[in-house]
Amino acid sequence: MISRATVQVSVVIPVYNEEGNLPLLFSRLYPVLDALGRSYEVIFINDGSVDRSSQMLEEQHALRPAVTRVIEFTSNFGQHMAVMAGLERTRGEVIITLDADLQNPPEEIPAFLKETDAGSDCVGGVRQERKDSFFRRRASLLMNGMRSRMTSIRMTDQGCMLRAYSREVVDGIVRSGAINTFIPALGYSLAKRPKEIPIKHEERHAGVSNYSLYRLVRLNFDLITYFTTAPLQIFTLFAMACSAGSFLLVIVLAGRRLIFGPEEGGVFTLFGILFFLISVCMVGIGLIGEYMGRTYQVVRNRERYHIDHILEVTE
Ligand code: UDP
Ligand code: MG
Repeated sequence: MISRATVQVSVVIPVYNEEGNLPLLFSRLYPVLDALGRSYEVIFINDGSVDRSSQMLEEQHALRPAVTRVIEFTSNFGQHMAVMAGLERTRGEVIITLDADLQNPPEEIPAFLKETDAGSDCVGGVRQERKDSFFRRRASLLMNGMRSRMTSIRMTDQGCMLRAYSREVVDGIVRSGAINTFIPALGYSLAKRPKEIPIKHEERHAGVSNYSLYRLVRLNFDLITYFTTAPLQIFTLFAMACSAGSFLLVIVLAGRRLIFGPEEGGVFTLFGILFFLISVCMVGIGLIGEYMGRTYQVVRNRERYHIDHILEVTE
């Protein structure tokens, strides 16, 4: 793909019900970008917010029309689709992704640009002293561990959304046409010279996380299933071990039947084994369903998100 970089830095920010954070985000982000001495653009994607975020973004666009673009989704399509829509429209040589809730300080952006200037094409932040709930930190540790065992992606902190990518990596992400994906991991898988840097992490300035337990589980399923089919293979191996075990059990029971005649005892043990095997089958069906559902979404080839309108100044 031909590089179409016309500005030096693009910043992509997904926004979902962030009215409490946007004023401070604007007042912290723009001075940082102005001080860079580079041309820049900021792309906000309003992911179907139902609060005042939309008006606030519109006001901000009116205030700085040349460097601010706003993509309005018709409804909520999720953080990663919002980022994807933003990436598709970036024009920067370097692209930064950032959360709107100020958990990743915008003041860290220059540190990322230093790394991209030095030749890195995918710079990931590693959150120091994460200010999230105990549950989120544990779950995150577990998922980072699982992902690094099952995929070839080596990242210390996959969940950190403050990242910088080169134009080529972003073009690759856009070309992938991915639906249920995890953008930091996708970016990393396309990078030739990835780098990680420690960054500060802050409490959410206002509001609460938009991720319920269910959404987190779904997101983490996306992370694993998009990059590997290892769970299917692990399951098959496990199922093979189970059937070998059950086969042995049948031989033993048949032997006892022949030697000792009919026995009553052990019925509950058998039930236990049966329930276990049934649950293994159910897990397997669920797992296949997860992959099938995702395959279906790709095959169905529907629009990944719907844009209501875009606020931008077109030359
Ligand atoms: N977000 C979004 N769509 C969603 C959920 C979240 O655009 O459906 C945005 C949100 O506004 C924020 C970023 O994604 O800018 C991260 O969301 P959040 O802070 O809720 O996630 P957490 O930090 O708890 O992982
Ligand atoms: Mg957050």
